[in-house]
Amino acid sequence: MMLRVLSVASEAVPLVKTGGLADVAGALPAALAPHGVELTTLVPGYPAAMKALKPKGKQLRVLHSYDDLLGAKARLVAGKLGEQPLILLDAPGLFARDGGPYGDAAGNDWSDNWRRFAALGRAAADLAGGLVPARTFDVLHAHDWQAGLAPAYMRFAPLPGSTPLPSVMTIHNMAFQGFFGHEHFLALGLPRTAWSMTGVEYHGGIGFLKAGMEAASVITTVSPTYAKEIRSPDFGMGLEGLIISRGDRVRGIVNGIDPADWNPANDTHIPATYTAGSIARRTANKRALEAEFGLEPGDGPLFIVVSRLTWQKGMDVLVEVLDHLVGIGGRLALLGSGDAGLVAGLTAAAMRHPGRIGLKFGYDEALSHRMQAGGDAILVPSRFEPCGLTQMYGLAYGCVPVVARTGGLADTVIDANLAALAAGAATGIQFSGVTYPALADAISRAVALYQQPVAWRSLQRSGMQADFSWGQSGRAYADLYRELTGKA
Ligand code: ADP
Repeated sequence: MMLRVLSVASEAVPLVKTGGLADVAGALPAALAPHGVELTTLVPGYPAAMKALKPKGKQLRVLHSYDDLLGAKARLVAGKLGEQPLILLDAPGLFARDGGPYGDAAGNDWSDNWRRFAALGRAAADLAGGLVPARTFDVLHAHDWQAGLAPAYMRFAPLPGSTPLPSVMTIHNMAFQGFFGHEHFLALGLPRTAWSMTGVEYHGGIGFLKAGMEAASVITTVSPTYAKEIRSPDFGMGLEGLIISRGDRVRGIVNGIDPADWNPANDTHIPATYTAGSIARRTANKRALEAEFGLEPGDGPLFIVVSRLTWQKGMDVLVEVLDHLVGIGGRLALLGSGDAGLVAGLTAAAMRHPGRIGLKFGYDEALSHRMQAGGDAILVPSRFEPCGLTQMYGLAYGCVPVVARTGGLADTVIDANLAALAAGAATGIQFSGVTYPALADAISRAVALYQQPVAWRSLQRSGMQADFSWGQSGRAYADLYRELTGKA
């Protein structure tokens, strides 16, 4: 039987992306279609999303109009995300702004984010309650804090006459919890009963993610290891008690990668396409990458980093280790954006090592493909990593991942220890603890392995042959939806 799921998120590729959530929300519908699940995606009608939706010269298909959705005029408009159904929350007063989805170009969060994403949650709960009779659903699936109020509205203030649906709250990153002042509570339009420990109240304010975690039938996060880690204070970031109390209602389902976007055999962004059987063709990509980053050409190992430049990603330790990396014959090409202090540290290292360290600051999707296709190894020294995508792209592209043993990095990379190497199972290098000695040692191991071409080629090939497409993960979500609805 066909299941209908409403997936609510603040980003989805190709409409809007600031991080991995968008890749996941954008890929889920196609991943679930083969499993008898029709996934409708609801995202805010940011300017770029509205533009992508509006067919030239045609009218938008309006499913519902609100005169007052938490104080804003709004409409639900229908479209397509690939082949699958899409609904945009078109509310110009909330979403038609220059800048990013969460703040202005200078990086300041919008002061009314509580209202913007409460409106998203309210609209999701309305849709889940049957607001649009032609669009009914069996399950509500909320992603991250921006969608956290959707299950809470459904529980505390369902559309009149509707029965709440089973719901899933997926945590893509526990570090982002959506915490706002208590003074906004009345404006949310929730009953007083929602102001409680098991409702939206969190440390005297409103916790969007917390509310969703309390209200949802099941909580998922994006890797089995992260699902365990968030039971501890370091990773749970205040919500570990809630995670523990939800017991077996917390699951870990690792993200997949979308082979339509990430496949070196037919990637249109890269100079030379290749497969696991023609890895030598990567050399042309390496030469092009060296040129693009102003690096001395050479056969020595070329490390890459594609990352947000933040503490989470261990970029401060990366800065410290660069002299060592260069000292043992490595070069680095880095693409990232983020903290000014890290940008300064990286820039200083690049000045010390001209021709050995090349940097690009900003966000550049096509360049990120060229880097995975031309780099020898990708460094991912994250302090925590719910799932992580860049290491999986590295695997698919024969760019060997060197990763911290945490979260999804621990679940997706097989360390090149002696046994794994001998069995031909190894796909990368793991290290424990994001510290200078641990990262320096991992880089040294990578350089030593790189100097053994047979072993290195085996690492690349095993990674390229590992299957991280959405097949298994799509099935896991479909099984979960079926478990929740009791529909076979
Ligand atoms: P997170 O979501 O925590 O940032 P992930 O590894 O899950 O980390 O996903 C990051 C995504 O964003 C990947 O698709 C990665 O390639 C991409 N990305 C990160 N920084 C950049 C950048 N500066 N330019 C292009 N793509 C980037």
